[in-house]
Amino acid sequence: MEIAIVGGGITGLCTALALKKEGHSVQIFEKEETLKPVGAGIWLQPNALRVLDWLGLKEEVKRKGIELRRMEITDMMLRPYKAIKEKVVQDEEGNQTVAIHRARLQSLLVAALGSSIPFQTSNGYVSHKQTNSKILVKMSRGEAVCDVLLGADGIHSSLRRNLFPKATLRSANQMCWRGVAEMELPTEYQSISKEAWGKNLRFGFSPIGPKEVYWFAVACGSQMPRLEPDLLKSMLLQKFSLFNPLISKILEASPAHKIHQSLLQDLKRLPKWHSERVCIIGDAAHATTPNMGQGACQGIEDAYFISQCLGLHEKNPLEAFQDFENMRRKKVDYVVNTSWRFGKLAHHRLGKKMLICAIKATPEPLLSKQLYKLYSLKPW
Ligand SMILES: Cc1cc2nc3c(=O)[nH]c(=O)nc-3n(C[C@H](O)[C@H](O)[C@H](O)COP(=O)(O)OP(=O)(O)OC[C@H]3O[C@@H](n4cnc5c(N)ncnc54)[C@H](O)[C@@H]3O)c2cc1C
Repeated sequence: MEIAIVGGGITGLCTALALKKEGHSVQIFEKEETLKPVGAGIWLQPNALRVLDWLGLKEEVKRKGIELRRMEITDMMLRPYKAIKEKVVQDEEGNQTVAIHRARLQSLLVAALGSSIPFQTSNGYVSHKQTNSKILVKMSRGEAVCDVLLGADGIHSSLRRNLFPKATLRSANQMCWRGVAEMELPTEYQSISKEAWGKNLRFGFSPIGPKEVYWFAVACGSQMPRLEPDLLKSMLLQKFSLFNPLISKILEASPAHKIHQSLLQDLKRLPKWHSERVCIIGDAAHATTPNMGQGACQGIEDAYFISQCLGLHEKNPLEAFQDFENMRRKKVDYVVNTSWRFGKLAHHRLGKKMLICAIKATPEPLLSKQLYKLYSLKPW
C-alpha cells in the first residue's frame, strides 16, 4: 500500500517511521523549506516514550534530552503545593518524562527516516481527489498518487479544511510565550520541571540540556500586541517581577529575538477524522491546549495506532480508520477536555483555589493510577 503523509512535524515523522516499521511504502510532503520547530522545548511523557522505544529511538531521545524525576506545580515562590514521590510520575516500566529541545527532537526523527522514506520539503498539500482505487494529490510542486492519504499538517490543517470545512478552533483567551535560556540551573532544579502559579499568570520551566532551560509563560488575554523582541522581554520581566527571582534570571538569560508568542487554542471536537481513504491525525485531528503537555504525545500515540490498524486491515483502509478512531477517541477526548478545563481553572480566582485543594487532597496512589492509565498504550 502506498501511503502519503502531509506534514513533517512530530506526528508526521513518527507516523512515517511507524508505517515503515510495519512494512508499508510511505512518503512525506512538508510545505516548509526547512522544518521550523514550533516553540522551544517539549516534554515527552512516558506514553510517547513507549512508542519511541518501539521505534528504537527512546535511548537517543533520552541522551539528547533530560529525564525529569518530578513535575511540580508551585506557588509564585516555587514552593510545591504538594511534594510528590518520583515513582508517582513514572509509568509501570519506570519511564520518566524527557524534556528535549524541539529542534533536536525533529532532527533525530528526520535522521531516522534515512534514505528509505522519501521526505520532500517545499512541497505543500493543496487539494486531493479520490478515484475508485487511488487518491490524486495536488501539491504546490506537482502531483502525487497514493492509496491512502494521512493529514498530519497541524492545527491549521489545509487537509482538514478540505475534508471537514465546518471544523473550528476555540480560543482559550490566553497568551503564551516560550523561550530557551542559556544558563545552568541551580543543582536542586536540574532534573525537575516546575510550573509556578501567580495571579492570572503561570510560568513553567525545566532543563532541556546542560546549559539550556526551556520555559513558557501564560497570561490571560487574546489581544496582546506583538512587541519588538527587547520590549517583549522587558514586559515579561515586569509581569513576573514578583515571582521567585530565579524566573527573572531565566528570562534575562533568554535571547529576546527567540521568544515565541502564540495564542492558546484547541480544535472543537470533530465527529469524524476520516473520509474514505483519507484520515487526519495529530494536531490536525485533535489539537489540544498545552496544559497537560500531551499534544505531541497524543500525535506520537496516533503514529503507533494508525500503523497497527493499517497493518491489520491492509485491504480496507476505511475499516482501519474506523478501528483507529474507536481506539483513540476516548483518550484524546479526555486529554483535550481535561487540558481545557485545567487551563481555565488555573486562571480563575476560585477555580485556582479548587485546583490547589484537589492537588493537595489527591492521594498518591490515586494520582499514580490516573497517570498509569494516561501513560499506558492500551486503548481506553
Ligand atoms: C505552548 C505549547 C507548549 C506545548 N508543550 C507540549 C509538551 O510539553 N508536550 C507535548 O506533548 N505537546 C506539547 N505541545 C503540543 C505540541 O506542540 C503539538 O501537539 C505538536 O507539535 C503537534 O504536532 P503535529 O506534527 O501534529 O503538528 P505540527 O507540529 O503543527 O506539524 C505540522 C507540520 O505540517 C506542515 N504543514 C502545514 N500545512 C501543510 C501543507 N499544506 N502541506 C504540507 N505540510 C504542511 C507544517 O509546516 C508542520 O511542519 C505544546 C504546544 C504549545 C502551543
